[in-house]
Amino acid sequence: MNRKLLIGKPVSENIKKSLVEKINSLSKKNIIPKLAAILVGDNPASKIYVKSKYKTFIKFNCQSEIHHFLNDSNENDICDLISRLNKDKSTHGILLQLPLPLHLNSKRILDSIDPNKDVDGLHPMNLGRLLQGNPNFIPCTPYGCLEILRYYKINVKSKHVVVIGRSNLVGKPIAALLSQKFDIGNSTVTLCHSQTKNLSKYTKMADVIIVAVGIPAMLKSNMVKKDAVVIDVGINRVDDDSQKGYHIIGDADYSSLINKVSSITPVPGGVGPMTITMLLNNTIASAEKTII
Ligand code: NAD
Repeated sequence: MNRKLLIGKPVSENIKKSLVEKINSLSKKNIIPKLAAILVGDNPASKIYVKSKYKTFIKFNCQSEIHHFLNDSNENDICDLISRLNKDKSTHGILLQLPLPLHLNSKRILDSIDPNKDVDGLHPMNLGRLLQGNPNFIPCTPYGCLEILRYYKINVKSKHVVVIGRSNLVGKPIAALLSQKFDIGNSTVTLCHSQTKNLSKYTKMADVIIVAVGIPAMLKSNMVKKDAVVIDVGINRVDDDSQKGYHIIGDADYSSLINKVSSITPVPGGVGPMTITMLLNNTIASAEKTII
């Protein structure tokens, strides 16, 4: 096991193996886990994410459907669909692909999802339960980060973890999770954000840094102590002259950090593959809860 490069694929494959068993056993009870993904508008990255979620579910003999709304759709139409999906017994997971067009109130729409189908774990009830240390659904990307730490046996207990970024999607839940009395937890967590003064002061003290900011290569090697662990959640498109016209880099300056840190997740190929796997995991868990 290469503990220097924390590659997501083996972690994800390992989890998927156990999920296949669960899918087979649900299928014997005529239950096929089903995800309904809601996409609004034409954000190219969102379209790619939703499509790859769809493909993964189909590949694993689960069901998936994409509900695509136009950019200028109104909130009530989306909430009406969610209300129907909440009642539909064959739908186990509802995912609202973020970000939404600016005229829509994502909080109101997220709040309308049945917490027991909120497989992205963003409903206030699920975030509240997570804070209490009794999670229902753990948000997929933070969950993926935990599974990477578990697989590569990176000890976070009593370690100082610095999380950079305070979004509801990544930063806040990962900070809350790692400070809990969980097997992957019991860390001392510092949560940094855009208003943190002298960010380096905190990152230099960190045993583990989790960066989820959305600024290409913002975490430099002079900001970390030797042998720190870096989990890079960032996915940033950088334009180039390639046929595709862009390439993806993380929030950590990988090339300068690789010789200083003890472990780091590459981008792409680190946290990225984990998010869909944990979405599959959460949807299967939701389907299992329907067995009485
Ligand atoms: P966001 O824009 O909602 O939040 C960014 C956070 O970064 C904010 O809380 C802000 O306070 C903080 N921030 C901004 N500038 C900063 C600075 N200079 N110093 C310190 N903090 C600063 O973003 P998000 O949804 O949390 O996503 C963060 C990154 O993670 C993005 O690149 C996104 O594409 C990526 N992401 C990846 C996955 C995945 O599957 N790997 C999933 C979700 C998000």
